[in-house]
Amino acid sequence: MYILLLGAPGVGKGKQADLLKKEFNVKILSTGNLLRERAKKDDDLGKEIELCLKKGNLVPFEVVVTLLEEAINSDEYKNGMIFDGFPRTTEQASKLEEILIKKKGMGLEKVIYLDVRPRVIKERILSRRICEKCGKDYNLLLDYPKTGKCGRCGGDLKKRSDDTPETVEHRLEVFKESTAPLINYYKEKGVLVSINGDRDVNAVFDSIKSVFKK
Ligand code: ADP
Repeated sequence: MYILLLGAPGVGKGKQADLLKKEFNVKILSTGNLLRERAKKDDDLGKEIELCLKKGNLVPFEVVVTLLEEAINSDEYKNGMIFDGFPRTTEQASKLEEILIKKKGMGLEKVIYLDVRPRVIKERILSRRICEKCGKDYNLLLDYPKTGKCGRCGGDLKKRSDDTPETVEHRLEVFKESTAPLINYYKEKGVLVSINGDRDVNAVFDSIKSVFKK
């Protein structure tokens, strides 16, 4: 099963990916997490990625695709995957099609587009905290643990370096410019399902589930 979650930063792709993972027993492939992990390495590539992340710019095509291909080829994803944060450009989208068809003999059946108003997005991103150790994310308004520690691994929770008001504005611009064209791209292919993401997490999840249980 290949599920693609599309939407602006902060619309809740990560939260929905977590719920889908439990429901359908498939792994999540988040390019954001792959890149944050890679950025921890103290080498030239790590530094280059860190700078892109901090500024809210897209990481160069070749870098993201190389990391993605490495992940797709690992055994971990043999039952399928949920794509979170990839593709972000039409160039990445056609590359993904090529990779999936070549390696798995199939394309994407459904692309879920989570639609949320920009004002709500900004609020959500600024109240997001992530675990320094395992990357799980929490929201101060929703599910922040009373202990202030990650409920999964006990790690410290902190703000992501790109979750600042200035960078959020920029990331939304990048989305509008580079990623939003994918909405039409997938609509034309007949695989896009648009879901109102401006609701309770479980209500959004029920809508997504109904797409796959028809
Ligand atoms: P969000 O959805 O909140 O933006 P992500 O974790 O998906 O969070 O992405 C964080 C950052 O990682 C992006 O702003 C961008 O710099 C980089 N990134 C993630 N996915 C990609 C991608 N497919 N192509 C290029 N850069 C990416």
